[in-house]
Amino acid sequence: TTTLPRTDLLPAVSAFLAAERRMLIGDEWVPAASGRTFDTLDPATGQVLTSVPQADEGDVDRAVRAARAAFEPGSAWRRTTPRQRARLLWRTAELIDAHAEELAQLETLDNGKPIASALGDVGVAAELFRYFAGWATKIEGTTIPMSTEDRSYLAYTVREPVGVVGAIVPWNFPLTMACFKVIPSLTAGNTVVLKPAEQTPLSALRLGELLLEAGLPTGVLNIVTGFGDAGAAIVAHPNVDKVAFTGSTETGKRIVAAAAGNLKKVSLELGGKAPNIIFADADLPAAIAGSAHAGFFNQGQCCVNGSRLYVQRDVFDEVVAGIAEVARGITLGSGFDPATDMGPLITAEQQAMVLGHVERSMADGATAVAGGARGRDEGFFMQPTLLTGVGEDAPMQRLEVFGPVVTATPFDTEEEVFRLANDTRYGLAAGVWTRDSGRAHRAGAALRAGTVWLNTWHADDVVLPRGGFKESGWGRELGSFGLDDFTELKTVIADIS
Ligand code: NAD
Repeated sequence: TTTLPRTDLLPAVSAFLAAERRMLIGDEWVPAASGRTFDTLDPATGQVLTSVPQADEGDVDRAVRAARAAFEPGSAWRRTTPRQRARLLWRTAELIDAHAEELAQLETLDNGKPIASALGDVGVAAELFRYFAGWATKIEGTTIPMSTEDRSYLAYTVREPVGVVGAIVPWNFPLTMACFKVIPSLTAGNTVVLKPAEQTPLSALRLGELLLEAGLPTGVLNIVTGFGDAGAAIVAHPNVDKVAFTGSTETGKRIVAAAAGNLKKVSLELGGKAPNIIFADADLPAAIAGSAHAGFFNQGQCCVNGSRLYVQRDVFDEVVAGIAEVARGITLGSGFDPATDMGPLITAEQQAMVLGHVERSMADGATAVAGGARGRDEGFFMQPTLLTGVGEDAPMQRLEVFGPVVTATPFDTEEEVFRLANDTRYGLAAGVWTRDSGRAHRAGAALRAGTVWLNTWHADDVVLPRGGFKESGWGRELGSFGLDDFTELKTVIADIS
């Protein structure tokens, strides 16, 4: 089975797809001023799901104006108390729970991921709302003693919202990526212009409806659907105070340059090329299963996917054979089929790009121990692929491929492998598998990445900060640190002599 019979969709999902999709600007769901729309596809079949408005610079400007108006002193939003914001966030979490199946179906249709993964994402979204609901009443400042002898001062800090946040997100976790930006923005009292990825606009639009249902004042969240030019218009807009972006490192660099106009604040969650290291003393069955998960989860379309596998020489053949066996046992299919382990890649272009990288590697002498080809005739599938014989300077070892492709390379010593692991422009995630706890923590110290996993991979929680060293980004999201970037710190000094 590849195609979900439309009759199996929840009535709410069918109705959502059947109705004209509009975007949210101020208190209205509107078409693009130009009237233009674009299609969003089901990547499992290549068929059109529905079309959405194609926002241009003018639409973005209207959205920014609405967000700015909602941020004016005295607005309904500016008058909400922290406790009211906490309740609003909590109510939204409950609405997400109540609509979990529906949101998951939309996500699987639009992104292709297995429905169980989509349901997991929806659960994370609800937990994010609850976690940040707790923070809304705890955004605190400090009092700081001054050492002046002639006069007395009281000095204190307050954290204020930044203002209008432009949130620009990718397609690999459409709902949770939108939540990563929208929720801390709202928690801290900002207003938002959200641009979902052009490949996956649907769950963000439904999230907007649920937030309004929970009582979010109009204009606080605006959602513009469009392509990179709409994202660029947000970044260039002089009335946007901050851009929170997740996407490719190349786009991140363009954003940094474009943000210079009004020096808006920028936080960036960018690409990765995570090294995953297996020492000979590791629990090998756990390391094999965990490394397959590291490489292939979410069709390999994870910024933290463990794409560079280094295996100590004594166990190289055993580990490669083990991961290849896991890869060959992965069932590709529609995300709605319970037998499916792995869905399609997001687009035909992504499939061609991943396949192109693999074919080039093989032409350069690499061996596909598993996979190496497209997955099925219909849709945008790619076989989970394990390559050996890829040189350290090969494009496959350097570039973020963003698909289910892992390269396995043997190493001899700890010192050598830490050097190889860090020899990358990225620094998002890294991991090691070993039974030697001293070595595990030496790796924790040596690996230059925002997240280091020891004897696990993809273990995660909304309480934990995440982000990148080097060209993997600026700032951290989630956890208590995740709020800082959505606030301005103000110092107030009073002469109380
Ligand atoms: P992308 O950079 O092409 O697009 C991401 C978003 O940016 C989309 O909404 C797109 O429309 C928009 N955009 C494109 N050009 C723009 C511009 N000039 N100005 C403003 N916005 C623009 O990335 P992608 O291919 O959609 O997503 C995959 C990338 O995202 C991968 O590189 C991956 O590593 C990264 N990613 C990172 C994280 C993380 O947490 N670090 C998480 C998920 C994905």
